[in-house]
Amino acid sequence: MSTAEVGQIIQVFSSTMSGCPLCHERHPNDAKRYDDGYLEERVNHLLADHGCLLLHVGQQSDTDGDGNPWQITTAVVGVPS
Ligand SMILES: [Zn+2]
Repeated sequence: MSTAEVGQIIQVFSSTMSGCPLCHERHPNDAKRYDDGYLEERVNHLLADHGCLLLHVGQQSDTDGDGNPWQITTAVVGVPS
């Protein structure tokens, strides 16, 4: 698949525990939601089970409830059209 065949863009964050946006499959251990390995598993699921294309992986700055900065990992995935 090339980027020309991408019909939808999905952004996946390491800081959220949402299920798969395509089939709503949830990770069996939601307690791992802040573990980047969980992000990896969710991205691998999109690539392997839905044929998605990984477009970008990077860091994003955010703030916690007290205003302290922290970093999250984000992945941008293209869904085949
Ligand atoms: Zn899925």
